[in-house]
Amino acid sequence: MQTEFAVVGGGLVGMAIAHGLLRLGRQVTVFDEGDAAFRASRGNFGLVWVQGKGADMPDYARWTRRSAALWPVFAQTLRDRTGIGVELSQTGGIDIFLSEDEAERGVARLSKLRKALGGDYPFEYLGHNALKQLVPEIGSTVTGATLCPEDGHVNPLYLLRALYAAVLDSGGQVINGEPVRKIEYTGAGFVVTNGETWPAQKVVLCAGLGNAHLAPMVGLSAPVKPVRGQVMICERVVPFLNYPSVQIRQVGEGAVQIGDSKEDVGLDDGTTSEVLAGIARRAVRTYPLLRDVRMVRSWGSLRVMSPDGYPVYDRSRSCPGASLVTCHSGVTLAAIHSMVLAGWIAGDAHPELVEGFSAERFEFQPAV
Ligand SMILES: Cc1cc2nc3c(=O)[nH]c(=O)nc-3n(C[C@H](O)[C@H](O)[C@H](O)COP(=O)(O)OP(=O)(O)OC[C@H]3O[C@@H](n4cnc5c(N)ncnc54)[C@H](O)[C@@H]3O)c2cc1C
Repeated sequence: MQTEFAVVGGGLVGMAIAHGLLRLGRQVTVFDEGDAAFRASRGNFGLVWVQGKGADMPDYARWTRRSAALWPVFAQTLRDRTGIGVELSQTGGIDIFLSEDEAERGVARLSKLRKALGGDYPFEYLGHNALKQLVPEIGSTVTGATLCPEDGHVNPLYLLRALYAAVLDSGGQVINGEPVRKIEYTGAGFVVTNGETWPAQKVVLCAGLGNAHLAPMVGLSAPVKPVRGQVMICERVVPFLNYPSVQIRQVGEGAVQIGDSKEDVGLDDGTTSEVLAGIARRAVRTYPLLRDVRMVRSWGSLRVMSPDGYPVYDRSRSCPGASLVTCHSGVTLAAIHSMVLAGWIAGDAHPELVEGFSAERFEFQPAV
């Protein structure tokens, strides 16, 4: 059973790439570790977020904006193929500030980005009164917010489900329950071992934190580390919030999702009442109505973080046919991964697309 593309990792990154490759008429088998694995794709915040992304890398800001612009077509493609709607909403997002200091820093960051992008970067600062007109439920101590019209959110679990359904419906194969332990380059292709052995013409590493271990097997590097985020979800309330922020959003069914932390705690994906209390306090200050809303669930999940927080896209020189995709914003970038990056992996698109995203920026010297 030879497959053309072995995609290792069945999270949002791997499934978006697999979906894109299948749409290009390629043959794909996805290998996924399964329930024992760390899976950011099942524990994230669901934002399709532009605001502030790429503060030190304008190409990443462009890449993110392009993905956000592709999202409506991407969501429609998934719906047409699978019947699953992903609850995409792109009415704009707000970054909320609780002090003048926070506001100053937020505006300065976006202004710097706007300058780096030659003035083409849409956002506006709303003071307390202007923000209250947009979102009447804000608390009296909210200073203001920046509004970016390109921000939005989706239901990330429906997204993952839709990608699985689309991949299977397009003839892709998914083999899960076992981690890939070994990948060998034979000179003419690859042999992927997950207990059984599977020949493949090409390999795409999309295994999230698992990439760190797998990449050196095919002459690549994935210096990714876990960064924990704790998130909580509250009971459903009447719709009051059309504008998501990085801390609070109201999902399609009315529940309020509140997050998140950024913690360096290794592979611990648990929760702590101290961090959750801090998150809740800020949420109540932002939207006082949340004081009377019950939390129904909380969880911790591990981000897949490169040293500078930007994606790593690479093709192996020593093992031609092997490539690597990893990123911190796999929801936001799902559209461009599927609709553009899959073409680059298939060899159809231009390499300048991903220039600057190689691990070589971390002084990794690939084997030639
Ligand atoms: C708290 C939190 C909030 C976030 N919020 C957002 C957000 O709002 N917007 C956004 O864009 N992004 C967000 N993210 C990031 C986003 O969730 C990730 O970028 C994305 O899920 C990464 O997908 P992935 O497929 O690379 O990794 P994962 O979801 O971790 O998937 C990796 C997959 O690889 C498999 N695997 C691992 N090792 C092996 C192996 N050896 N063999 C086979 N399979 C293997 C695992 O089974 C797993 O399914 C958030 C993340 C966290 C933790």
